[in-house]
Amino acid sequence: MLRLVPHAVLFVCLTLVTQIGGIAYLMGLALATVISARRPAFYVQSVIALVIAAPLYLAMTFFVVPPLAAAMGRVRLPCETSGSNPVVAASQLTCVLNRSYVRPELRDLIMGLGVEAGKRFPGSQVTALEGNFPFADGFPLLPHLSHRDGKKLDIAFFYRTPDTAISHGSPSRLGYFVYEPPRPGDPTPCAGRWTPLRWDFGVFQPKPAVWQVDEERTGWMLQWLKNHPQVSRIFIEPHLADRLNATGGKVRFQGCQAARHDDHIHFEIP
Ligand SMILES: [Zn+2]
Repeated sequence: MLRLVPHAVLFVCLTLVTQIGGIAYLMGLALATVISARRPAFYVQSVIALVIAAPLYLAMTFFVVPPLAAAMGRVRLPCETSGSNPVVAASQLTCVLNRSYVRPELRDLIMGLGVEAGKRFPGSQVTALEGNFPFADGFPLLPHLSHRDGKKLDIAFFYRTPDTAISHGSPSRLGYFVYEPPRPGDPTPCAGRWTPLRWDFGVFQPKPAVWQVDEERTGWMLQWLKNHPQVSRIFIEPHLADRLNATGGKVRFQGCQAARHDDHIHFEIP
């Protein structure tokens, strides 16, 4: 029985990160058990299982999950990180890990935002970060505790360099964890408080920060979301809500017990 514990740990970890990765691992483990003449050591069996599970996982992710999820009410956002789509991904890893699913009405909304952004600021594309897993209401997309029903989506700010507007993308390869911190005098409601999900990741912060938040386009995007009747809540840190003239109404502070929201905008539909 104890031999199963490491496999169970792997199953749980892969499930928490990708939702279907644990199932692919179990399939790989079953096949590894069938083809192994003798029962190998745990780590050998796990490596064989993972080697078998990886292509199974990718085949499921790109050919089985999208139509199955669509039949159950969730659709995948664009996976491309470039091209002419009005909405692009910050990282292809988001799709590979099955973390870019939303309800169809939320996909329509974000695509509409992308089209309008492109009209208002030619060349601009909205950058989507993480949405939800493909299946099952109530299954959280950790560490985003509320992303559990297909109704939540994170998007990147618009950025620029001192000279040029950047069409899309994020200063972080993952789309998260490069922060736009408070300036002196800005509100800092969580100053001096440590909470488990409020990470600072000082080591990830570029020095100097080449990408700066494009306040005109990001402020416009926040107003567009605020004015959209389908959007119910928007989370962003208070100092950025102030800076971008977007305080009040649907724009809320997520509190100190959640992840920082000065590296992205979170919004949701009811
Ligand atoms: Zn979020």
